[in-house]
Amino acid sequence: MPPAQKILGRGIKNGSIDPYMKQDWKPPRKQIGKPSRSLPVRVWGLLLILVALMITFYWGPHSPQTIAPDPPACHSSSTNQRQASQNDGEAQPPLPPTPPAEPEHIFTREIVPGDNLSAIFARLEISQVALCQIMAADESLLALDILRPGNVLTFTLDEKTRQLVRMELFVDAGKRVIYHRIDETSFDYEEILIPGEWRQQVLSGEIHGSFYNSAISSGLSDQETVTITDTFKEQLNFTRDIQAGDQFQVVRSRQFVDGQLTGQSRVEGARIIRRHRLHSAFLFEDGNYYNEKGESLARSFLRYPFKSRPRVSSHFSRARRHPVTRRMSPHNGVDFSMPVGTPILAMGDGRVSRVENHPFAGRYLEIRHGGRFATRYLHLHRVLVKPGQSVRRGQHIALSGNTGRSTGPHLHFELHINERPVNPLTAEIPTLVSIPKNKRKQFNQRVAELLAVMEQPENKIALR
Ligand SMILES: [Zn+2]
Repeated sequence: MPPAQKILGRGIKNGSIDPYMKQDWKPPRKQIGKPSRSLPVRVWGLLLILVALMITFYWGPHSPQTIAPDPPACHSSSTNQRQASQNDGEAQPPLPPTPPAEPEHIFTREIVPGDNLSAIFARLEISQVALCQIMAADESLLALDILRPGNVLTFTLDEKTRQLVRMELFVDAGKRVIYHRIDETSFDYEEILIPGEWRQQVLSGEIHGSFYNSAISSGLSDQETVTITDTFKEQLNFTRDIQAGDQFQVVRSRQFVDGQLTGQSRVEGARIIRRHRLHSAFLFEDGNYYNEKGESLARSFLRYPFKSRPRVSSHFSRARRHPVTRRMSPHNGVDFSMPVGTPILAMGDGRVSRVENHPFAGRYLEIRHGGRFATRYLHLHRVLVKPGQSVRRGQHIALSGNTGRSTGPHLHFELHINERPVNPLTAEIPTLVSIPKNKRKQFNQRVAELLAVMEQPENKIALR
């Protein structure tokens, strides 16, 4: 098995992710029992702004499938109390009992429906200040926003001081994130991805009732089915054009690590066989779907998610080494300086996968575009779309802002391909309408491979 990829990131303070954010943000010391006699006026001003922001954005929309971490109160104890009382109700499912074998300074908690990070920290008597420091480290990864039932958190405390020194998030067998304490005020993160093994499988069926239900009964997941309907939506109206008895065939790959499904999958090819027509989609290495002639099925992407072309105030950087700590500090997106309220447009057709409020990333939005692309828009003033909503390329989705840990109005924009951030200014994005000549041979070979799988006797379905 290939070695796990490790991606290091730096949290708060000097290694802060945005150059805009180089201000020395420090959490209030009050809660960890240190004297806070004479806070300078500037700090109080910042605290007031943070309180106002938290109050404004606390009740924002959350993606329905995920467990919102509840923005931790990184500024005051009053909000802590509100969260605690809210979460101490009888409706809260009990946390699993600590197994006796666990050492006294290590705690493991499996996420259950209704959990949130603030409440888990409170129950374990770990300070909300530590939570804020971890959220700061998570700003460039945003892994803690999408906690789901079954994810596991492991907390390691210092045996003497009882201070949190490490928190591990187990997402699935292929993905873990470890947050390490660096010093009194900050954590960094390490993302461990295990490539595992991708196993291919052909699923097929006849359509009776809706395509969606028929696809689900054949064994496809909700996400895979949505990818297929999104891929074909420019040419096929699934409610009007499909008739009972039409057929479909899908090649999908799922990731396994140590024989265990991780939940990661991709649709590599799909065919819909209607009475008089055949529609095909083949996933190419650029992450886009094409028909057998090599014509793109999705409309191309915009290069920039806005109309004008604002100034780049900070570039994408995968491995910027911090001069003092010598740690790697990625900047996973590009910052565009723009006034608050600038219209933000969807880069491409897609579906809104997250609308969240993060104490450091601010109000942000994530859109998934087909199988392998996602875009993120951070520090927004307002979001104009809802989780689950379909959006079209160029659609006005948000207003830029200055929320979260941001000292100047700007848009932090990220492009992800295969769950990895890439430089949106230089990445190969689907701006093409068809496969270029120099990739043609490679594409044809890919189509031939997928067709061979689909045409194997046990998978073959007859064209009527
Ligand atoms: Zn940024």
